[in-house]
Amino acid sequence: MTISDTAQRFLFENIDVRGERVELNSSLQSAFEPHAYPIAIRRLLGEMAAAAVLLSTTLKFDGSMSLQARSNGSVSVLMVECTNQRTFRSIAHWKEEPADNADFQMLLSDGQLVITIDPVQGKRHQGIVPLKSPTLANCFTNYFQQSEQLLTNIWLASDGQCASGFLLQALPANIENDETLREEHWNYLTTLTQTMTDEELLTIDTKTMLYRLFHEEDIRLFDAEPVSYRCTCSRERTAIALQTVDPQELNDILVEQGAVNMDCQFCNTRYSFSAEDVAALLASTQNHAKTLH
Ligand SMILES: [Zn+2]
Repeated sequence: MTISDTAQRFLFENIDVRGERVELNSSLQSAFEPHAYPIAIRRLLGEMAAAAVLLSTTLKFDGSMSLQARSNGSVSVLMVECTNQRTFRSIAHWKEEPADNADFQMLLSDGQLVITIDPVQGKRHQGIVPLKSPTLANCFTNYFQQSEQLLTNIWLASDGQCASGFLLQALPANIENDETLREEHWNYLTTLTQTMTDEELLTIDTKTMLYRLFHEEDIRLFDAEPVSYRCTCSRERTAIALQTVDPQELNDILVEQGAVNMDCQFCNTRYSFSAEDVAALLASTQNHAKTLH
């Protein structure tokens, strides 16, 4: 069996808990394709991509959400950005090539992860996840335990080709008001989910998985939503970024290199601006400045 590229929500009919499963296969390979990542980085970035899509499904927002990890370990930056359209892109920078079997703590020692929610309208929100637990999934689970958000547990797996994530989240009291019973139900479901192996996460479809884990429970499984890789860069956005660069600096580059080349670090697309393009850009910046003042 192989997993697909989807996010799928489910709900326990008789317990105040919801869940989400994310499967990444060809979308992850497309995101990795422009880069020669070492295998240990492919696995970790795969887990982070699955986590980003999982978290994005728990939040109601119109815009983008990113996870950015920085550390003193062999990986300096890992970043995944996803949109509420279930598209994502990712990037990794490393100082030294990690061993194939490098674990989470070696890769991101002393690290921290910043969750940023950037809505199209309204204020940007940030949360900080310390990376002190043995796995990325544990770091998120601890983060949710310590923050005042809904109790949430996350499971992640990646082999560098595919990645998968599984999430359980306690809902506000609706079916059961007794706190002790609510806690018992939560512990029961999370204990059952702990029996799931990484191999199962990476190979088994959601319907089969839910039956294996919770066959005694009534579960409503919603339609799977497609997840895809997409870079949000464009020539227009690159031009806007260029307008913030000192014109003298742009002229120096033109004299030296004949054109100003900007490469997107996510997808490696090169945007090339000739001397005429740069002159037109600078003229439009000046016109804009005039109308502002
Ligand atoms: Zn791009």
